Amino acid sequence: MPARTGAQYLESLRNDKREIWLNGEKVENVTTHPQFEGAAQSIAHLYDLQHQHPETMLMDSPDTGDKVGTTFMFPRSKEDLKRIQETTKIWAEASAGIMGRSPDYLNITFACYASRLDVWSRYGNDQGAKNLGEYFRFIRENDLCLTHSIVNPQVDRSVAEAEQGGGEVSLRKVGETEDSIIVHGARMLATLAPFSDEIVVYPSAGGQGIRHEDAHYALSFALPMDTPGLKFICRDSYSKQRDTFDYPLSSRFDEMDAVVIFDNVHIPKDRVFIDGNVDLYRELTDATNWRNYIVFQAMTRALTKLEFLFGLGHMIADMNGVNKFNHIQEKLGEIWSMKEMTRSALVSSIEGATTVLDGIYVPDERPLLALRGLMPKYIPRAMELIRLIGGGGFLLTPSKADMEGPLRGYIDQYYQARNAPAEEKIRLFRLAWDFIGSDMGSRGELYERFYLLDSFRMTAQAYLIADKEKDSNMVQKFMDEMTLHENNLVEK
Ligand SMILES: Cc1cc2nc3c(=O)[nH]c(=O)nc-3n(C[C@H](O)[C@H](O)[C@H](O)COP(=O)(O)OP(=O)(O)OC[C@H]3O[C@@H](n4cnc5c(N)ncnc54)[C@H](O)[C@@H]3O)c2cc1C
Repeated sequence: MPARTGAQYLESLRNDKREIWLNGEKVENVTTHPQFEGAAQSIAHLYDLQHQHPETMLMDSPDTGDKVGTTFMFPRSKEDLKRIQETTKIWAEASAGIMGRSPDYLNITFACYASRLDVWSRYGNDQGAKNLGEYFRFIRENDLCLTHSIVNPQVDRSVAEAEQGGGEVSLRKVGETEDSIIVHGARMLATLAPFSDEIVVYPSAGGQGIRHEDAHYALSFALPMDTPGLKFICRDSYSKQRDTFDYPLSSRFDEMDAVVIFDNVHIPKDRVFIDGNVDLYRELTDATNWRNYIVFQAMTRALTKLEFLFGLGHMIADMNGVNKFNHIQEKLGEIWSMKEMTRSALVSSIEGATTVLDGIYVPDERPLLALRGLMPKYIPRAMELIRLIGGGGFLLTPSKADMEGPLRGYIDQYYQARNAPAEEKIRLFRLAWDFIGSDMGSRGELYERFYLLDSFRMTAQAYLIADKEKDSNMVQKFMDEMTLHENNLVEK
């Protein structure tokens, strides 16, 4: 089946028996439930966008010749990397960068994995590698939407996964039949779960520390969302049942986060990619260059957020006339600088791309990892700057009901901006608050801090991959020359 339309995507969500729980209620149909409908429609729009920009977002399937998503591509040139990035950018702009787990996130992950079956087949894992290759073709040809859950719940981060809650919490293998393995336990988080077709599990970067004796925790597999025994408990919904005028972002882009419970779930053996292979589990993230690809996707989306924040900041400052003050200009210049550093690092990651195997292009990790450590500082800082630019105006915004009520005349008079009527100003300030300050805005900030591990460990990783020799040699050469210079001075 070629790339899906929004209508086809929504139809697939209607026809299964997934167990999604929200606020004590089992949600029967996420496409019509008031708390989920808005986001389901927004994701459907992403699928429609593919057909509106086919030259960028679609490519010929190497297997069937059907038009399939570009983000499933194995990039074989810098042009391919640019095209993948443009596709991510179109999807990111559709939600102002808010939907971090738009389908390209996992399309790119699995394209990366499937391009490195040589790595997946290490340590005797030929069958797992074969399964993964077939699974990749299945999701590409059917244009499936995936959620992933790669971190075990927070119980005691100071001990091994296997010791969480006396060994009764983290996801692990507990049995096996002729056709399946049986897993039990929980995973901390699966964003987009209510809206996905399948859930995938694979090693997190933190999984590199897994112990050999904990092989039953070293798992990778994929399952349909309505597999018996799978249960998803959602956090509070931010999709308020209010007019989009009041909450323009929360009402449409709450991609939802859920804890996943695996209650003795059977995984068919052809859906298992790693079963207890600790050495492979530890190596996989680095050896497949997964981080290069995923940070490339993630920073492209983050660039969209910074662009949006700069646009918001400028429009607010211009409306209130505060952009004539030099410290406001400095604040806007700071957001612009973060945006430009991000854009430049992404260009650099394509320019510095290298090839592996038979010519698969891998973005340069150095600028990406530098950004990865900085972005959890950039975006919260940019949000803080918007607050400083906008002042108290964010809170003093009448609702749609007020706008339609008897006080409209007063609103038009007293909420006007220097260069815009009241309604336009109110719309802008409500949009900005939903981005930086509402419960949705706060979730967005937390997301940027933690969605890919944390800034601290990523920045430490930057030090680990850094070429220390070149710069140390420069220092050493300088010191050697100093000694020579001092000796020469003495001789004179
Ligand atoms: C909104 C949101 C959406 C997410 N979506 C997904 C998703 O779809 N799928 C998914 O798998 N995950 C998802 N994540 C989870 C993400 O993978 C984790 O949040 C992330 O790995 C950090 O783990 P944690 O939140 O448990 O924090 P913790 O690991 O508990 O960290 C808390 C604090 O302790 C520090 N800390 C913890 N362990 C160590 C250590 N070993 N060394 C040094 N410092 C340490 C951290 O730096 C941090 O400051 C999401 C997270 C958020 C916030």
